Amino acid sequence: MRLCRTTVPARSMLVAPLLWALVACSTQPPGNHESVNATLWSLTGAEAYAGASQAYRAAADNLDTALADPQWTAALEQTGDYGDLPPAVMMDIDQTILDNSIYNARIVTEFGEYTQATFSAWCRKEAATAIPGSQAFVEYARSRGVTVIYYSRRIEPLRECTTNNMEALGFPVEQEFLLLNDRRPESKKAYLRTELSKRFRILLLVGDDLEDFVAESRTDTPARMALARRHADRWGRQWIVLPNPMYGAWDTSLYGHNYELSRGERLDLKLRHLDR
Ligand SMILES: [Mg+2]
Repeated sequence: MRLCRTTVPARSMLVAPLLWALVACSTQPPGNHESVNATLWSLTGAEAYAGASQAYRAAADNLDTALADPQWTAALEQTGDYGDLPPAVMMDIDQTILDNSIYNARIVTEFGEYTQATFSAWCRKEAATAIPGSQAFVEYARSRGVTVIYYSRRIEPLRECTTNNMEALGFPVEQEFLLLNDRRPESKKAYLRTELSKRFRILLLVGDDLEDFVAESRTDTPARMALARRHADRWGRQWIVLPNPMYGAWDTSLYGHNYELSRGERLDLKLRHLDR
């Protein structure tokens, strides 16, 4: 609890020291925010740069291998005779190609939390920067004749600002392959992988959340870990994951993805996972 100054009428000056001591601010110092270290890591860490660069180098190396092997596919949803289909990669957007850590920094400094409204306002500034290595990888994939499909949980009304932000950073956008969240089941990522794998051989999946790779990942933390381990051979090969310690289903799984809970209730549930 932080103490702060309050306005006190003159006739109440005798009780002012008491009020001074008792009135607590509704906000807290940013240093108390549960996301401060993760946001600083993403915003300033040389390791964040290095991790992303490493991921995209692996992506480029595996792209060559994948192109040469007609049996190679990254999508578990891909079935049938897909060897002659044109090649594509499917990439998430936020914290995969667009870096929103400045938005998260504002959440920390204002001791706030993510809301769709504030995130949409941030997106409309078109101020996200590029995740290191992402532009060069997209350019390389396109130069090899690979279609780049972007699929994101960003909502459909953010299409224009997302396109502008991406194009300004050097990501060419074909609207047909900018797949956003229109809140229908058909915009879920596993569904999109299923549909796109009928048209393309999916060489790589690139993302920062387990759902960017595999279906049924919005479960509890042990089940998510089991799912990641079940596909151990795919990481760094067909599946390229970008580090995101700021948010994601790894975080919401800690409180059962229950967005109805208060912030305090969510934090309590999260802290229980420290007892092992
Ligand atoms: Mg993402």
